[in-house]
Amino acid sequence: MSSLASLYDSTAIEHLRAELRFEPRCVRQLRNRLLKHFAADTEAIAEFPAGARMLLHPLELYRQCDSELDGASKLLFRTQAGMLIESVILRIATGRTTLCVSSQVGCAAACEFCATGKMGVAQNLSSDQILDQVLQAGQLLVREQRKIRNIVFMGMGEPFHNEDNLYRALDALTAPELFHHSPAKILVSTVGIPDAMIRCAQRFPEVNQALSLHSVRQAAREQLIPLAKRFPLEQLRRALVALNRIQQKPVMIEYLMLAGLNDADEDAQAVIAWLHGLNVHVNLIPYNPIEDAPQLIGTNRSRRDAFAGLLKRAGLITTIRYSLGADIAAACGQLVKKENRAIAAAASKDQ
Ligand code: SAH
Repeated sequence: MSSLASLYDSTAIEHLRAELRFEPRCVRQLRNRLLKHFAADTEAIAEFPAGARMLLHPLELYRQCDSELDGASKLLFRTQAGMLIESVILRIATGRTTLCVSSQVGCAAACEFCATGKMGVAQNLSSDQILDQVLQAGQLLVREQRKIRNIVFMGMGEPFHNEDNLYRALDALTAPELFHHSPAKILVSTVGIPDAMIRCAQRFPEVNQALSLHSVRQAAREQLIPLAKRFPLEQLRRALVALNRIQQKPVMIEYLMLAGLNDADEDAQAVIAWLHGLNVHVNLIPYNPIEDAPQLIGTNRSRRDAFAGLLKRAGLITTIRYSLGADIAAACGQLVKKENRAIAAAASKDQ
């Protein structure tokens, strides 16, 4: 038997150890070097007795796009099936570094405003593929003397459509013998799947959650987010109440600002009323225009500030999402979409 063992698969590594008879210390050392110190592969594996039998990276770095405007980099990875996914490194001016990871190739939620949803593909990433985004980004950053501080599941995909692999990844990210990343510095963002939100909070109470709310009017929300029909606003609100009880920390409410759709003073009043009594932090998101939704227009800055002002005056913690990498978003995102459509079409022809 000579299949490769995953770095995260303790059973496979134990089999290797039984076969090649090396000390458990060697495994600990390899994992510490890679997952805690983000050492380069060759350095990490130098003293490992079974280096040739390990699969360190299920993803291949296909392209790196660095913003010329700010500290954002987009990493395009290719899966073994040939599909492309993206992760984004956000080097924030304060020195903190956030990594945004993907949980799927494409997404079945198909939200009106989202480029990933328009891809016409939805495939789950394995937990190893989710984790490899963190490992490879960590290895790039360590060369700049930077460390990943926050990990956010805000890349491609709906994390709760890939719940098992999400939880496997969260287990590995927080495990002391693996990445040992603080759960309080991880955030899972969802389109709003109430039962999964509660399950996640129960299993990982310290992991932050964000709900992509975008409207508190059922009809308007359904227009933007088709899944809103299955999971109506009352159900979401009940899930938020449950999360608040389990987590004792605010849930992030993401609110994409779209001109004429959800940004009037009356919308702000409706949001204030809907969120009343909940422990939340509202993050207003400037819309990043996509080719497939030419009818959607982002709210202008003065309207956004007025909207934010109303929320703040009502006592809601409200921030406006900083936006990095405007120049690289389109360039790489469109490439992913084009290539994945072609690969998915070819694969379905083969079947
Ligand atoms: N599926 C998850 C996570 C991925 S999207 C979710 O829905 O939350 C991460 C965030 O980016 C979500 O709040 C999503 O609504 C937002 N988003 C998607 N497309 C966008 C766009 N074109 N401009 C601005 N934000 C967008």
